[in-house]
Amino acid sequence: MKVYKFGGASLKDGPSVKNVVRILRKEPVHQALCLVVSAMGKTTNALEAVLNACWQKEDPEPFLLQIYEFHHKIIKELFPNSKEAFYAEWEALFEDLRQMAQPIPEGQNYDRWYDRLVSMGEIFSSRIVHNYFRREGLPCEWIDARQIIATDNRWREGTVQWEQSAAKVKNLVLPILQNQLGLTQGFIGADAEGNPTTLGREGSDYTAAILAHLLDAQSLTIWKDVPGVLNADPKRVPEAQLFAQLSYAEAAEMSHYGASVIHPKTIAPLAKKNIPLFVKSFLFPSQPGTCVDNTQVRKFLPCIMYKGRQMLIKIEVETMQFLKEEELAVIFKIVGRLGLHTQLVHKTARAVSLCLDARPLRLAALRKMAGPDFNLTVAENLELLTIKNGTSILAQQLTEGREVLVECRQDKLYQAVLRCD
Ligand code: ASP
Ligand code: MG
Repeated sequence: MKVYKFGGASLKDGPSVKNVVRILRKEPVHQALCLVVSAMGKTTNALEAVLNACWQKEDPEPFLLQIYEFHHKIIKELFPNSKEAFYAEWEALFEDLRQMAQPIPEGQNYDRWYDRLVSMGEIFSSRIVHNYFRREGLPCEWIDARQIIATDNRWREGTVQWEQSAAKVKNLVLPILQNQLGLTQGFIGADAEGNPTTLGREGSDYTAAILAHLLDAQSLTIWKDVPGVLNADPKRVPEAQLFAQLSYAEAAEMSHYGASVIHPKTIAPLAKKNIPLFVKSFLFPSQPGTCVDNTQVRKFLPCIMYKGRQMLIKIEVETMQFLKEEELAVIFKIVGRLGLHTQLVHKTARAVSLCLDARPLRLAALRKMAGPDFNLTVAENLELLTIKNGTSILAQQLTEGREVLVECRQDKLYQAVLRCD
């Protein structure tokens, strides 16, 4: 049994969905396959815009219209006859989103609303793909990820409840895979009460790894618009090179530093069961791509990684005071309680600077919890550059002409917090 994951770029229009069918048809007839799909194209961003409009009590209609038209175009490309039954289903599905897209009353939890509303992208995508597969004669069963991926209710970052999920997967997914394709959504799950939750942006890879782990799959393949895992993002570094082989540890480290080709949480569930991960191009499916497993290969290729959406918070004590370890402990406790993720720490006599994944809505709470003893300054719209195995000349080249807010170097690692224009 194998698990395949198709992300937004591989489902961005009608021809792309048709290409997925071509890839599946190349599989041997008896191959058991579980498919995980993300929202189509950039739908998740558009759903975030809908949510933000509802939160700010603005009109979400322009964003809703954009989402409707984007999907409707794909549906027309896949189901040319406008009388096909799926059109009615699509209207009903979209109506569910429209009903949700209302001004959000005061005092509600933003992150909880996020999970309710933004999870719709994967539902749309999987329903469209499922109906198209069936129309094409691929035996396929739609599986609701909210019924198999059990999480706690940490909204937007649900923690997987492994035992519950294992039981659900065994009862619901395994029987389907005996004689059909199983098709489910990445990124989404549900808490014990059945409320939808999400696993963090780009979390579909993680869902696929969870399923590969729980199904004891022989491999997981993530189909991408790049040839595999490269030593840099080819959009920013055109001469980027492909890794044929990477160890779990190396791949996990690269994704942590921002190599967006795989979600950081993807590796651990696979490594635990020694399940190989293939990262392959959906445009050139016969090319080998990258294999990630427990093989150790010595490499000297420099890796360049950028992590976007960062903020830098400088937390300072009064003049003539030094920042003490006890105070650092207090600061980190607050940061942890607010669910903020630290990417880089830099301490001086009176201040500590933390580079964190940007969560501007949590800043007010941070200020309040830190209290009057600490002075906070925040810089937003930043990115974190990490270079592994690089020379200082490379670091210089990549930071030239850019404002560097914090910089550090240790062993084979160079990191810099940079302002985006
Ligand atoms: N659709 C979600 C996102 O864009 C999850 C994913 O693509 O993996 O973040
Ligand atoms: Mg995606």
